[in-house]
Amino acid sequence: MFPEKMQKVIEWFGSLPGIGHKSAERIAFYLLGLPPEKIKSFSEDMLSMNRGVKACSACGNYADSDLCGICGDESRDPSVLCVVESPKDVIVFEKSSQYRGRYHVLGGKLSPLDGIGPDELNITRLRERVEKESVKELIIATGADLEGEATADYIAGLFKEGGLKVSRIAFGIPFGSNLDFANSATIEKALKYRVDISKDKKN
Ligand SMILES: [Zn+2]
Repeated sequence: MFPEKMQKVIEWFGSLPGIGHKSAERIAFYLLGLPPEKIKSFSEDMLSMNRGVKACSACGNYADSDLCGICGDESRDPSVLCVVESPKDVIVFEKSSQYRGRYHVLGGKLSPLDGIGPDELNITRLRERVEKESVKELIIATGADLEGEATADYIAGLFKEGGLKVSRIAFGIPFGSNLDFANSATIEKALKYRVDISKDKKN
């Protein structure tokens, strides 16, 4: 139906998240009408993002340089770390504009069935940060599903010695859902009504 060169582009766009076949066709028609210089800078920007965006050496968030914008921002409170599964979750909290602390990105959650144990997550670095930086509280914001809960529990267990406060965000977010779908008001409440889950020091 389409010339082969166009068909290829339609298939590329159709394979992207959230873009159906119809939208992919519309994008291809639109791109056909653009001047070559625009297409060139578009493709160069994609390549540069793909090659240049790395994990922040401190928190694991996406970064252009060694540190991400949040870790490099002196005005952010270094005493609170919000522990999340992925850089996408950092965006969710940042959009709510309610949080002024820093983050720690785990790169997933504990999931024994998928072979993801503590060693697969960014946990060694979290221990180092708690030891070396002036961290007083961890707010665990892993997802509200079984793996997210198990991960929160595991992290609370790691820091039961030493007086660090570990809290869990409150969930107005339905159990089993991801943070991506939460709006800013939900995130604000989730932070405000967080619950202390520091392990009982007597145990
Ligand atoms: Zn960072």
